[in-house]
Amino acid sequence: MRTPVYMDYHATTPVDPRVVEAMLPYFGQTFGNAASRNHVFGWEAEAAVEEARHRIASAMGAADKEIVFTSGATESDNLAVLGAARLLKQKGNHVVTGATEHHAVLDACKALEREGFEVTVLPTDPTGRIDADRVQDALTDRTILVTIMLANNEIGTIHPIASIGRVCHERGVLFHTDAVQGFTKIPFDVGTMRVDLASVTAHKVYGPKGIGALYVRGKGPRVRLAPLFHGGGHERGLRSGTLNVPGIVGFAAAVEIALAERDDEMRRLRLLRRRLHEGIRARVEDVRCNGAPLPEIDGSGNLAPGEEERRLPGNLNLSFAGVEGEALLMDLKGLAVSSGSACTSASIEPSHVLKALGVSDELAHASIRFGLGRFSTEEEVDFSSETVDAAVHRLRASALDRG
Ligand code: PLP
Repeated sequence: MRTPVYMDYHATTPVDPRVVEAMLPYFGQTFGNAASRNHVFGWEAEAAVEEARHRIASAMGAADKEIVFTSGATESDNLAVLGAARLLKQKGNHVVTGATEHHAVLDACKALEREGFEVTVLPTDPTGRIDADRVQDALTDRTILVTIMLANNEIGTIHPIASIGRVCHERGVLFHTDAVQGFTKIPFDVGTMRVDLASVTAHKVYGPKGIGALYVRGKGPRVRLAPLFHGGGHERGLRSGTLNVPGIVGFAAAVEIALAERDDEMRRLRLLRRRLHEGIRARVEDVRCNGAPLPEIDGSGNLAPGEEERRLPGNLNLSFAGVEGEALLMDLKGLAVSSGSACTSASIEPSHVLKALGVSDELAHASIRFGLGRFSTEEEVDFSSETVDAAVHRLRASALDRG
């Protein structure tokens, strides 16, 4: 086992070696510009892009021409939120989002406020979930867009996207979802879930960094957006800029592998996560699990009858009472995990997601996000519980000495 042990798969994932293999020819051999219409270099690159577009579209139940390639989900979120709102501003000026959204969505909404739009930020329930009824109650005659994520990147909470989609569709309001953390990890289909816009990115699904996509509904209704970039008119005018051919090919390869392995991987991750949670709880007292409770599972990792997937299978977010957060992270050097704090230029701020759940600042700082993924093993999980056990006990003991 190599240390530090990587348990931060929500932040990013390593590129799967099968994906690297698929990408390699597109750096040297087939290097053409997919927009070059006059020679075979361009045609080959374009063919690779179109094949990849088809695979990514199929993975979410979309048509090929509904996929727009971007530089990643930050751009996709901005294009969806700003692009839709700006185009619809004659129709209305109200946008609805959730308190635990990624900053790519929240800050795009703040930019809209500066442009004169009104934004409602919905609170969540204590598990981090926003129900469709709450969305429905927030809609007004001026609402043009709702943006609620598929699954949260800190606590893994899965929102009821299909019900929210139905509510929005009935009211004729566009529905965007940041599907970054859930795409290829849990079922996601833009048709049955009535999603109009969806952001995805390759580096969370064992593909390369710097490539993402936005699903833009083509009919029923056809969604129109004001582009953010102006230039060569690529991607049907929605995203000018030379296409990242190796990235696009890698993204499609990554999506295909992840989908083929998804159900087995969900079971494996549920088992690993339970092992991690139980391992920590058996050793350490006063541990609080943030987000939705872990589901009951059987010995093969299947959900028990009546259980619903309310949380990404690879996510665990724990708070350790009586421990100073920064000291905890310093003590966990053998583990690559994330804390419930974010450094801003001025200070260390508790995570806005944990705050939205009502977690105190103190407990938010003493929180750890564990993200399990494709290359996580039982050995790594056991090492993690032992490492956390040692660190928390040491810190609690020294707090007692001081106290
Ligand atoms: N949305 C969510 C939920 C994320 O977790 C991330 C990644 O941190 C992003 C958006 C931004 O994605 P990207 O890194 O591709 O810009």
